[in-house]
Amino acid sequence: MGLFTDEDLTNNAKGKVMASRKVFLLPGDGIGPEATAEVTKIINWMNEALGSGFEVEEGLVGGTAYDAHGEAISDGDMEKALAADAVLFGAVGGPKWDDVPYEARPEAGLLRLRKDMELFANLRPAICYPALADSSSLRKDVVEGLDILIVRELTGGVYFGEPKTITDLGNGQKRAVDTQVYDTFEIERIAGVAFEMARTRDNRVCSMEKRNVMKSGVLWNEVVSATHKDKYSDVELDHMLADAGGMQLVRWPKQFDVIVTDNLFGDMLSDVAAMLTGSLGMLPSASLGAPDPVTGARKAMYEPVHGSAPDIAGQGIANPIAMIASFAMMLRYSFNMVAEADQVEKAIANVLDTGKRTGDIWSEGCEKITTAEMGDAILAELQSLAA
Ligand code: NAD
Repeated sequence: MGLFTDEDLTNNAKGKVMASRKVFLLPGDGIGPEATAEVTKIINWMNEALGSGFEVEEGLVGGTAYDAHGEAISDGDMEKALAADAVLFGAVGGPKWDDVPYEARPEAGLLRLRKDMELFANLRPAICYPALADSSSLRKDVVEGLDILIVRELTGGVYFGEPKTITDLGNGQKRAVDTQVYDTFEIERIAGVAFEMARTRDNRVCSMEKRNVMKSGVLWNEVVSATHKDKYSDVELDHMLADAGGMQLVRWPKQFDVIVTDNLFGDMLSDVAAMLTGSLGMLPSASLGAPDPVTGARKAMYEPVHGSAPDIAGQGIANPIAMIASFAMMLRYSFNMVAEADQVEKAIANVLDTGKRTGDIWSEGCEKITTAEMGDAILAELQSLAA
């Protein structure tokens, strides 16, 4: 099940389907367009062969938007992003735009999307495909078959709290202040996302904070527990101090299903979890907003964790798997197309099993292929799984 309200699920069960599936595609810069082109192939096939009914509109973001409009995303494209059921985002940035004004830099487009769409929940799965278990820095038995999901609060906490200052104390000393601040509603809503996610997986949540030394940790712990008791008591809940959590992630990551944590700890723990699985070119992510009070649908943006990789852009050698896996997350969480999402993920795993690899995940004895060849191989595998 994806992130749908009880009412949506009832409607689905009654055979009512969503009227349309509006996807706003923002390829962006560098390898972004190369990676999104491989998703477009899959979408076109799904529309033709399965009647999936995706309506895809394309816009500009990042440096390419700056070149066209003088800003990192235009108001018109921002409106389209807000009106879409889901946004698929490639990557932004590159040396070409190093000297553009700060507020128009490519990354400002990404930040505006996150802010205007109020995407407070960042979902980063860490899945270790069996064929790549040898490329992790950890022992094969520790990571093989790993499938965990980190749910990170994205719009609050110490990155945004005020005051946020550096003060000159006048005696050759300065004082820097960042403020870790969370209100009840912010913790409730991120906990809700984590519990909903857990219900679609192994039904277990581990909440991480530092209640031993931080007041925000005390409140976090209280509110997660209360939210659990109130609405999600069917889900198994554990609490762990975030430092111990970091240690456990490296010691035995398979003990976790869903981890929910704040912005700062989530930033670090999701990077640790990500690297358990190998290359940046493999890592998808999703960012979700609050459910619409009328339709229950959440605003959502799906993007690979990697950037625009200017060092390899234009060469046709980027790994499109992070982008394709982000599309699978879109199928699962925005469109409740669980079987299709499973098949896309299975197609990726099967292609990796055949030994086909883009350069970033290539090792001795494997066949080195291009971005387009990887996209084609995944599509062909998907077609045979669907046959
Ligand atoms: P990066 O993720 O673009 O690249 C880091 C390294 O990983 C590079 O060597 C790159 O070639 C490799 N890599 C990344 N994705 C790959 C893929 N799919 N296949 C094969 N190899 C891949 O990070 P960076 O080099 O620090 O940043 C480059 C630009 O991207 C900068 O302008 C940065 O601001 C921007 N950036 C954007 C995003 C985003 O759009 N979400 C995220 C991070 C960085």
